[in-house]
Amino acid sequence: MAIQSKYSNSMNVKKYSILMVTSEAVPLAKSGGLGDVITPLCRELKKMGHQVTIVMPCYGFIDLSSFKKLKKDIGVFLGFETEKASLYKTTITDQHVPLFLLKNEKLFARDGIYGNKEEPLFRDNVKRFSFLCRGTLELCRVIPLTPDVFHVHDWPGALLPAMLNTQNEGELGGSTSLLTIHNVGYQGIFSKHDIHYTGLSWNQLYKKDYKTGENLNLLKAGLTNSSLLNTVSPTYAKEIQTPPNGHGLEEILSRRVSDLYGVLNGIDYKEWNPETDPNLPYNYSQENLDNKSLVKAELQKIVNLSVDSEKPLIGIISRIVNQKGFDVLCNSSKGALSLILSKLPVQMVILGTGDRVYEEELKTLTNRFNNLSIFIGFNDKLAHLIEGGSDFFLMPSRYEPCGLNQMYSMSYGTIPIVRKTGGLADTVENYDPETGAGTGFLFEELNPVSVYETVKKAVDTWIHRRDHIFKMMKKAMKKRFSWDKSALEYIELYKKAIRKKNSR
Ligand code: ADP
Repeated sequence: MAIQSKYSNSMNVKKYSILMVTSEAVPLAKSGGLGDVITPLCRELKKMGHQVTIVMPCYGFIDLSSFKKLKKDIGVFLGFETEKASLYKTTITDQHVPLFLLKNEKLFARDGIYGNKEEPLFRDNVKRFSFLCRGTLELCRVIPLTPDVFHVHDWPGALLPAMLNTQNEGELGGSTSLLTIHNVGYQGIFSKHDIHYTGLSWNQLYKKDYKTGENLNLLKAGLTNSSLLNTVSPTYAKEIQTPPNGHGLEEILSRRVSDLYGVLNGIDYKEWNPETDPNLPYNYSQENLDNKSLVKAELQKIVNLSVDSEKPLIGIISRIVNQKGFDVLCNSSKGALSLILSKLPVQMVILGTGDRVYEEELKTLTNRFNNLSIFIGFNDKLAHLIEGGSDFFLMPSRYEPCGLNQMYSMSYGTIPIVRKTGGLADTVENYDPETGAGTGFLFEELNPVSVYETVKKAVDTWIHRRDHIFKMMKKAMKKRFSWDKSALEYIELYKKAIRKKNSR
C-alpha cells in the first residue's frame, strides 16, 4: 500500500530526462546482474512518465536487424586520435525505451563484452570505454538531447562524469550525473600511460587525490567526479566504506558518504515468474506447488541426476569466482562441496562459468560424486529451470552488492541459503526454528564448515519440519522486489543530483 501511495505521488512530480550509459542491457548484452537491471529500471522510469534513453556499445554479437541506422556518423575524440562511430537506434520493452548503439568495428565487433576466451580482459578496454563515454556526449549533440541526468554504471561508464565536468555551462555542462556502483571489486584499472585515451588530465580525473605514478582507475575517476553515487543495496553501501569490501576505494567512498546511497535492485517479474515462465515445463504458483515437484523431476532428468523427490536438490547459478565463495566451495576434499556431497542426502546442480581452476575442480568433483551435476557455460534457459526445479539455492558470497539469484529463488519458492552480506542480508530473512518464520537460511562466517553446517540445518529442516519449509516457501513467494519501488528511489536521487548541481 505504501508503494501504491508513493507511486501516485510520483504522477504529480516533475518528469526528468535521463540518459543511461551502460555496457550491458538485456536482451542485447548480459554478463551478470548489470544487464538484468538496466532494462526493467528504464522500463519502469518510462512508465512513470520520465524520458529515458539508453546508450551502449554495438558488440559483434548484437543482431542489428531491428535497428535503424542514423544518417549522421560522429567522430569520437580519444586523445591522440579520433574514432568514427556510426549510430543505430531501436526501442526496447513494451514501453518502447529508445536505445542507441555506438558502432565501431575495430573496437567492438568481438564475441565478448569485456573479454573472451582468448583474452579474458581486452587489452584496449580503456580505449573502448573512453569511446563509449566520449561518444555518448557526441551523440547528445547529434540527437540533440540535453539530459537532466547522465546515469552511468560501473567502471565502463565512470569516465563520463569527469568528461561532463569539463563541458561548458549552458551546453551539456548543465546536466548532472549519478554513478551506480554494481560491484566495487571491478574498477577498470589500466596503465598510467593509457590516460591519453580519456582526453583528460590527472587533475580532471582525480582532483586532489592524485598520487604520482598511480594507475589509471576509471571507477575512482567516477567516484571523484559524479555528482551523486549509489550502490545496489543499503548494506553494501555501508560495507564498501571499509576494507576489504572497499577494495582500496574505501577512503574516497567514506569521504563521500553524504552523497552515497543504497538502492536495492528489483527483479523483472515478467522474466522471473513461475506462473508464466515459458522456460519451465510446468508453471506453478503458491496455490499450486505440486507442479514444482514436476519441474524438479524434469530438471533431475535433464541434468542427469536420479529422479528422486525425497532428496533435496540444491542449485547454484553463478560466476565461478572467489567473490561468489568458490574458493570455499572447492578446495578438493576440504571444501564445502565435498563435505555436503559426501555427508548429506542431497543432490546439487551447478551452472556457471569463470575461473578455470575452479571449473576444473568442479569437473573432478563430478567424477567423485554422482549426486553432483555441473554445467560450465552461460545458459539462460537452464538458469530458469534450476531456479524452478531446485529446493534450495546456495550463495556463499564473500561479498554481494545486491544479488539477483536469491530474489529469483524466492519468487520460485526455492529457499535461499546465503551468507549474511550486502544485498543478501537485505533481502533474505533468517529461518526461525521456533515458529518456521523466515525466507531462507543465513550464515556469517565464510568457511567450508560454516557453509556445510548451514546447508545441514536446511536439509534437517527439510527432513524433519517440512511444514516449516512450506511456510517459508510461501512467504518467500509472496515477497515482492518490484522495480517500481526502486525506480521511485532513483527518481529521488535524480532530484537530489539536479538540486546539488543547481545550488552551485
Ligand atoms: P553478478 O552480477 O555478481 O554476477 P547477480 O546475482 O547480481 O550476480 O546476477 C547474476 C545474473 O546472471 C543472474 O541473472 C544469473 O541468473 C545470471 N547468470 C550468472 N551466471 C549464469 C550462467 N552461467 N548462465 C545463465 N545465467 C547466469
